[in-house]
Amino acid sequence: MEEVQTDRIVIVGAGLGALYAALTLAPLPVVMISPDPLGQGASSAWAQGGVAAAMDAGDSPEAHARDTLRAGAGTVDPKVADLVTREAREHILDLTTLGAPFDRTAEGGYVLSREAAHSFARVVRVKGDQAGAEIMRALIERVRRCASIQVIEGVMAEGLEVTEGQVTGVRLVSAAPEGSAPILLRGVAHLMAGGGSSGLYAITTNPPRIRGQVLGMAARAGAVIADAEFVQFHPTAMDVGEDPAPLATEALRGEGAVLINAEGARFMLDVHPDAELAPRDVVARAIFAQGQAGKRPMLDTRAALGARVTEVFPAVSAACARNGIDPVAEPIPVAAAAHYHMGGIATDLDGRSTLPGLWACGECASTGLHGANRLASNGLLEALVYARRAAQSIAVHAKIKDSAAPVELVFAPGGTPLDPETLARLRQTMTAKVGVLREAEGLKDALRTIAALEAQQPTCESLLNITATATLIAAAALLREESRGAHERSDFPATDPACASRSRLTLAEAKALRETLT
Ligand SMILES: Cc1cc2nc3c(=O)[nH]c(=O)nc-3n(C[C@H](O)[C@H](O)[C@H](O)COP(=O)(O)OP(=O)(O)OC[C@H]3O[C@@H](n4cnc5c(N)ncnc54)[C@H](O)[C@@H]3O)c2cc1C
Repeated sequence: MEEVQTDRIVIVGAGLGALYAALTLAPLPVVMISPDPLGQGASSAWAQGGVAAAMDAGDSPEAHARDTLRAGAGTVDPKVADLVTREAREHILDLTTLGAPFDRTAEGGYVLSREAAHSFARVVRVKGDQAGAEIMRALIERVRRCASIQVIEGVMAEGLEVTEGQVTGVRLVSAAPEGSAPILLRGVAHLMAGGGSSGLYAITTNPPRIRGQVLGMAARAGAVIADAEFVQFHPTAMDVGEDPAPLATEALRGEGAVLINAEGARFMLDVHPDAELAPRDVVARAIFAQGQAGKRPMLDTRAALGARVTEVFPAVSAACARNGIDPVAEPIPVAAAAHYHMGGIATDLDGRSTLPGLWACGECASTGLHGANRLASNGLLEALVYARRAAQSIAVHAKIKDSAAPVELVFAPGGTPLDPETLARLRQTMTAKVGVLREAEGLKDALRTIAALEAQQPTCESLLNITATATLIAAAALLREESRGAHERSDFPATDPACASRSRLTLAEAKALRETLT
């Protein structure tokens, strides 16, 4: 395999975590690996709600931390919640300086939205639902102008080199559909910022590139993975046959839209006192149950919004129009969709993984902030806080020179692209057996299917990465014999106080469990 040595810090990924880390590291030399043109392929650019931070004088980081702990259902690390919520404000101020055009009040304050399970209005936003796109636009502009950051587009990582227990390099291939022979790039430090895992599910809100590749890569190298079983399902993805499924944002329910089924019944009234505004996992399970019963759950905006829906929620209206639905005249079919992975590469407070030489930030990391259920808009916040902490830790621990020559990669043909049929089967299995409602037999079946799919292309690294992540999610879900937050077991419906701790699993342990089933 061709080998390339660089004095740069290698950042895998190009979402919010990666961009913010690279800017924090400047002027230290960085090379950023982006499979797509910057700004495309990242969940960050799709975020609609905004970033949670106690910006109002009447609010406090303590209240934000309390809400985070409550949403996390008993497994949030209080030290992490305290640290992240305390640092939140300074990151909003920094993003503002970097050019993020947050909505402002006439008096110059931040316009703050209130989201589910927050006790205060504390989500800073941009032009209603454009937070992710606009923050990314501002940071990309900065990154493009920053001389110390080299961005390589059209390339993706598929494996890590480990030498005597230390991460020393990353194997890269062309991101074109036909792939390429790999090149081993050895940097002075390696930061994983490759996003979440929800695209491993057939019904998902995540961009197609976000399939747990980077988590799987770290796990294959031996990193400990924390909280893998906790996947958050968004209750109201639009069930219109698009992959990924467009979001019917929670704000629609905030405006009074109701959930009905094919019989016209408002089923949430019997499920929770807050009905449509119940916590995300409760609504997701109710929608899933209606779907399973063949009752076709739908979001009805007609009485609450009428014709206003097109003007206030242009993204939702556009998705409806693409699919021949008129939300002014008819309800929108919805389904629960995999949305956010609370689990990931276990990190310490400085974003260090359990493998020396490897740091992680953003959704691919598991810091202990989210527990069993992420509080709305804490995802972007965690990416910001840990991107900076990881960058600062790298600057202290890695042997970095002040400048470095640009990396040059010329890929030769070769490699084993992932078979689309195999990917489709894996995603269907995850949705059917490792989804909203889980039970032991289904999880065991899923683990057997994942093993069989893995055996079909045993030298395809892209497949091995995603089957590693799928194995870890299913194995951790099988091992957690209780229901907690987003993890619901029909065979263990109660929360067990004895299980109120985070899970930590290596791929070797998850595979050993898988092997007992075959
Ligand atoms: C529709 C939607 C709405 C959301 N709304 C909100 C919200 O309002 N507030 C909030 O806090 N959170 C929200 N989230 C979650 C939030 O957007 C993500 O958690 C966050 O953006 C993750 O940032 P990241 O940098 O870790 O990953 P991403 O932004 O997903 O970036 C990951 C990067 O890694 C790259 N990558 C993937 N695989 C590889 C590989 N093998 N090699 C190299 N690069 C790779 C990708 O191409 C991408 O550039 C939302 C998510 C979605 C999908």
